[in-house]
Amino acid sequence: MILDGFSVGAIDSNCYLVGCEETKEAVVIDPGAEGKRILKRIESLGLKVRYIVLTHGHIDHIGGLDEVQRGTGAKVLIHAEDADMLTDAGKNLSVYVGPAAKMHTADQLLKDGDIITFGKETMEVIHTPGHTRGGISLKCGPDVIFSGDTLFAGSVGRSDFPGGSHSQLISSIKKKLLQFPPETKVYPGHGPATTIGTEKRYNPFLIY
Ligand SMILES: [Zn+2]
Ligand SMILES: [Zn+2]
Repeated sequence: MILDGFSVGAIDSNCYLVGCEETKEAVVIDPGAEGKRILKRIESLGLKVRYIVLTHGHIDHIGGLDEVQRGTGAKVLIHAEDADMLTDAGKNLSVYVGPAAKMHTADQLLKDGDIITFGKETMEVIHTPGHTRGGISLKCGPDVIFSGDTLFAGSVGRSDFPGGSHSQLISSIKKKLLQFPPETKVYPGHGPATTIGTEKRYNPFLIY
């Protein structure tokens, strides 16, 4: 599996490129900003992007969506419950931080358990609401999870935005993410990577 991650935009959102070694088919997770830079990275890795998968609909995760979609022709995937955030500048919060953003609409709506296939790799959708109603995490291969703004190294996502619920967020993390083996790597929407085992033991929001 090809895995490349880098932060983009004013508040350092992580964008990930995940690809199949053999076919170079790939997925872009959260093109939050700097679409041109993301496209350059895709080109330098020789990837053929099939899907753009959004962990949720906040502007810091979708800001570069239109540019990357135009540059790749890839299908846009988001959980059904966050789909309207793509075109609603109030719901995606863009109206509060800069120009109102109305993005490409979803080509396909996701639900828990869906499998996204690219080349010989697959990615499973895990619905982890709490940060937003349609927030998802993505399980890729045997030991990698992309956790969006649900779980961070040493922290958890905010739940004070519309659609957020702290109790639901904690329940999503405990019931759906912490059940994976401790060595499972976690790549969050912001900040450094971690593991399920480290968060289970040391994350102050989860140990009580
Ligand atoms: Zn968010
Ligand atoms: Zn974010």
